[in-house]
Amino acid sequence: MPEQLNGTVALVTGASSGIGEATALALAEHGATVALVARREDRLTELAARTGDRTLVIGADVSDQSQAQAAVKRTVEELGRLDILVNNAGVMLLGPVENAPLEEWQRMVDVNVLGLLYCAHAALPHLLEAAQSAERGVADLVNISSVAGRVARLGSGVYNLTKHGVGAFSESLRQEMTQRHVRVSLVEPGAVETELVTHNRPEIQEVIRGTFGEIQRLDARDIADAILYIVTRPRHVAVNELLIRPTEQQR
Ligand code: NDP
Repeated sequence: MPEQLNGTVALVTGASSGIGEATALALAEHGATVALVARREDRLTELAARTGDRTLVIGADVSDQSQAQAAVKRTVEELGRLDILVNNAGVMLLGPVENAPLEEWQRMVDVNVLGLLYCAHAALPHLLEAAQSAERGVADLVNISSVAGRVARLGSGVYNLTKHGVGAFSESLRQEMTQRHVRVSLVEPGAVETELVTHNRPEIQEVIRGTFGEIQRLDARDIADAILYIVTRPRHVAVNELLIRPTEQQR
């Protein structure tokens, strides 16, 4: 199905590594022009070099309301429209609630919840416009949650809180958008081999590795495939929610 997204414009947050990077590549390979958003602009520039002229690099911190708004505005100004938003930027800082560094909670709420909301809010008018005006007749808002958005676990309380919030918000917005053809989808990955765990304190990284053991984790491209599947369905098909674990992951 190459070229299936020809003429569309996508914005992917957290495109500088992991799932976001793989998703941006997959969308570009299938014909979309993609705005790459994250704080590490050097990484985005490297990625852009691998996609020819199908990308726009935007260095932004999505947890800053004005930067999130400016990223969406620049995408529409420079690429002309917005058909697909992939709200992927996120951080997972685990550990017990007792004596947790409050700064970690602040970062998770700021990025996973507020960053996602700021981008969704800024993008919605453009997604609605695209759904009305484009030949495709539909637009997509894909929110990346987690198994942690379905199941709460010991040592994951605030991450669980943020991802459960993403799930609740997505379902409410989905209901609001149905008649206007903006599809709101939720993707809930299990363990994926990315940088995500490495941002934790060393002792917490040990615990996380112990929790999952030596199972074969998902590759970021496995999740990119799922996102590509969602945004390439015919206009009348909305994939509301996808939970994707590695085959060997138990919980
Ligand atoms: P990575 O750490 O590899 O990627 C996270 C991305 O988010 C980076 O591109 C980072 O870019 C970006 N990001 C972080 N903070 C900000 C910010 N303030 N503003 C803009 N961008 C930001 O992790 P993953 O690819 O694994 O994570 C992607 C999503 O998938 C997250 O929402 C995560 O919760 C979710 N997920 C991951 C799982 C896994 O096992 N890996 C499992 C379930 C869900 P930069 O630092 O350059 O800003």
